[in-house]
Amino acid sequence: MGPGPSDVHPRVLRAMSTPLVGHLDPSFVEMMDEVQDLLRYAFRTENKWTIPVSGTGSASMEAAVGNLVRPGDTMLVPTNGYFGGRMESMAERAGGEVVHVDAPWGEPLDPADVADAFDEHQPDVFGFVHAETSTGVLQPDVPELTSIAHEHDALVVADTVTSLGGVEFRADEWDVDVAYSGPQKCLSCPPGASPLTLNDEAMSRVLDREEPARSWYLDLSLLEGYWGSDRSYHHTAPITNVYALREALRLVAEEGIEERWARHRHVAGALKAGVEAMGLEMNAADEFWLPSLNAVRVPDGIDDGAVIDYLLDRYDLEIAGGLGDLSGAVWRIGCMGHSARPKNVSYLLSSLADAIDAQDASVSVDADAGMEAMQTALGE
Ligand SMILES: *Cc1c(COP(=O)(O)O)cnc(C)c1O
Repeated sequence: MGPGPSDVHPRVLRAMSTPLVGHLDPSFVEMMDEVQDLLRYAFRTENKWTIPVSGTGSASMEAAVGNLVRPGDTMLVPTNGYFGGRMESMAERAGGEVVHVDAPWGEPLDPADVADAFDEHQPDVFGFVHAETSTGVLQPDVPELTSIAHEHDALVVADTVTSLGGVEFRADEWDVDVAYSGPQKCLSCPPGASPLTLNDEAMSRVLDREEPARSWYLDLSLLEGYWGSDRSYHHTAPITNVYALREALRLVAEEGIEERWARHRHVAGALKAGVEAMGLEMNAADEFWLPSLNAVRVPDGIDDGAVIDYLLDRYDLEIAGGLGDLSGAVWRIGCMGHSARPKNVSYLLSSLADAIDAQDASVSVDADAGMEAMQTALGE
């Protein structure tokens, strides 16, 4: 129940014990098509350029930023969380200049601020984080943000690492040019092959670059040769991770993407109701609550790390502390993919209540009220 990796579904673990074939084996080539189709389904897109990038979410992130940002380009990035900062580092390494749209950690971007930043800086690329894992904030108003960017002829990159397969995201309908994700969050798959999708406009900007992308490994104009129509060798695909991703995406398709979004809202909603009824406070306002990552404020007088250690030692249960500006101030409780189940929420609430009570501080929580609120929210 941390910020990822989430629990892996048994079917995905089983798929990972499938014997290897070559990365150009006809059966593997067929599987690549299938994975691409399933990724399009999860991203809600028709984009031809939809692939798993070899590596973790940061690899698909760097593939997006490092290919789109050309030397001298300006990229607009957010300051309201940890991962906007990582976008900034990647854009700088790509030779870009970075400008900011500000919002405090724990709040989403305001479209009016984004519009002001566009008027002031005229960026070529705009990146935002749809589901900020460091703060538990979901960015609303995505179509509004993309239309501001497109009025200024900029391309939009969305970080959907903690939303894909868990929280509503619609690449085509919302006009997002590029979106990247990771497999080990709401897709409940081990890290290693990370979703990326680009529309034609974004891909033509990449293919028209005068100077090649600085990373050879992540150069999408070269990867095109393997994941595009040629299917010729670029690097050896992480075969086992592709098996795993395929199975994880099949589980998404079997459940139905909208049903899966609804399950995350329902189950994490019970978690949130339980935490609040116990007397704890969520970090994000209700309107921006992110079901897949619940940031809960650490009560005064409680040592966040001691509770985290207690949960791991006594209950074999993982949650995480805060990052950056929220270090020591929040616990981050994931509710992702296969982990988003009522029994996990019930276990978490009772264990967390015990862990806080065991801290010998003046703080006490109402465990019974928490369990009752959870059951009501689950409709039991
Ligand atoms: C986890 C995460 C990443 C980075 O993914 P890794 O798999 O750790 O490389 C990027 N963005 C967000 C929002 C994340 O939560």
